[in-house]
Amino acid sequence: MTGDAAGDEVRLAQLRDNLGAVHDRIARGCAEAGRDPAEVTLVVVTKYFPASDVLLLHRLGVRDFGENRDQEAGEKFREVRQVLSEAGEPDLTLHFIGQLQSNKAPHVAGYADVVESVDRVKLVTALAKGAHSADRHLQVLLQVSLDGDTSRGGVLPEDAMTLADSVAAQGLLELRGVMAVAPLGADPDEAFARLHDVADGIRARYPQAGWISAGMSGDLEAGLRHGATHLRVGTAILGSRPSLL
Ligand SMILES: *Cc1c(COP(=O)(O)O)cnc(C)c1O
Repeated sequence: MTGDAAGDEVRLAQLRDNLGAVHDRIARGCAEAGRDPAEVTLVVVTKYFPASDVLLLHRLGVRDFGENRDQEAGEKFREVRQVLSEAGEPDLTLHFIGQLQSNKAPHVAGYADVVESVDRVKLVTALAKGAHSADRHLQVLLQVSLDGDTSRGGVLPEDAMTLADSVAAQGLLELRGVMAVAPLGADPDEAFARLHDVADGIRARYPQAGWISAGMSGDLEAGLRHGATHLRVGTAILGSRPSLL
C-alpha cells in the first residue's frame, strides 16, 4: 500500500464509483441480451497500475485480475498475495492475457491461474512444462485471431481445434474456452459472433471449455450480446493508463 491513508481513501472512492458504473453496464447489457449477470465474470485488468490499486479493488470485492506482461505481473502479484495472506484475506484469480513468448511461459505457469492468450502449440508445451515444475494446474483459453492477422496474437479459427487438442492432451492444463480482442476498426458484434462460432465448435468436443472471454472497456456490451462469460476491463475502472510503451 502507499501508506498514505487519505490518498488511499480518495482512490478507493474513485475505484468504487468506476466499478459500480461497470457493474451497471453489465447489468443493463445482460438485461438487453436476455442473460443472467451471474454467469458473467468481470476480470479487472490492472496492467500499469500498482499493487496498491489491486489491494483496493480486492477490498471492493474484485477477485479476478488480468495482467499482460510477465515481469510486471509476477512481481506485483507476489506482493499482493503476500499482503492478502498475511491479513488472512481470500486469494484471487490471476488471468494472464498478454502475448507470451515460450521462454517466459514456465515463469508465468508459476503464478498465473488462467492463461487466456494461448495461440500456438509451442506455447502449450512450454506452459505444460512450467506447470509440471511448479506442480500447478493451469486453466487455459485459446486466443483466437478474428482478422486473419496473427501478428497481434491469436490462432486462426480454422486452426483452433488442433490447438485445443494439444491443450487437452496435457494433464496439468485445463482447456476452458476461448478469448479474443475485437480487431481495431472492426465491428465488434461481427467479430464476437465469429468467436462464438469457434467456441461452439470447441465446446462440442470439450464440454468443459465453455468460457468466452470477449469485451473490454469499449465493447463489453457487444461481448455480452455474443455469449461472453468473461469481460476484461481496465480503463473504465482504473482510468487511462500511463503513456503506453
Ligand atoms: C489491456 C487489455 C484489456 C483491457 O482493455 P481496456 O480497454 O483498458 O478495458 C483487455 N484485454 C487485453 C488482452 C488487454 O491487453
